[in-house]
Amino acid sequence: MKSLSLYLHVPFCASKCAYCDFASYPGREGDWARYFVALWDELDGWGPELDGYRVATAFFGGGTPTLVPAERIAETLERCRDALPFAPGAEITIEGNPGTLTPEKLRVYRRAGIDRLSLGAQSFDDGLLRSLGRIHAAAQVGEAVRMARDAGFDNINLDLMYALPGQTADQWRATLDAAVALGVEHISAYSLIVEPGTPMASRVARGEAAVSDDDAVNAMQRMAVSRLADAGYARYEISNYAKPGFECRHNLVYWNRGE
Ligand code: SF4
Repeated sequence: MKSLSLYLHVPFCASKCAYCDFASYPGREGDWARYFVALWDELDGWGPELDGYRVATAFFGGGTPTLVPAERIAETLERCRDALPFAPGAEITIEGNPGTLTPEKLRVYRRAGIDRLSLGAQSFDDGLLRSLGRIHAAAQVGEAVRMARDAGFDNINLDLMYALPGQTADQWRATLDAAVALGVEHISAYSLIVEPGTPMASRVARGEAAVSDDDAVNAMQRMAVSRLADAGYARYEISNYAKPGFECRHNLVYWNRGE
């Protein structure tokens, strides 16, 4: 059978981060139920088209998939399994915001078969988190990792951002150290891109926020490569680092131009 990867988008967030141009919408609680019905309809439509395939990886991204009731995610996965066969040991990831997780939600995800959690940590500096418009504090990242371990997650990613306006090299080093100290299996480190139309772009245009120059971005990237290598994380693509055997299989499907 041919291998297939599913990306399931959940376009809802508690609020909009200053740098974000993803398809994600705050304040749309009234649309959540309708959205999932539409997603399930689409899945039912695709099932017959995908005869001969089986699902090797699935990824709930967003948006903030951990914002909506966990039962909607579990039901979506169940409907995926009704529509398509899954390979044994398929990797199933959910992206989460540390400010939206509870032990109960995490248990529902595990029971549904989700085996990988990707947490949007971004920084371990509360001032930088506030300037990005994140809804969580740094301490909640550690709490979320502990809750996830208790729920049985043994494959956790932290997303981090660098080259943030006002971010110093010391702040970036401290964020890398804090991420490493949590012992997660995978770390993604993305340099900030100022996207047109975002509040961040307006701040830059008004001179209220400064974009890092290429040399500064480069220096921070080199710092990530060396700090994470020292801690046992191999860089397996431009922005992603993993302990041996924990490279994100879903991510590699994109890089290898799989289906
Ligand atoms: S939580 Fe993620 S998707 Fe939602 S607004 Fe922030 S960056 Fe965008």
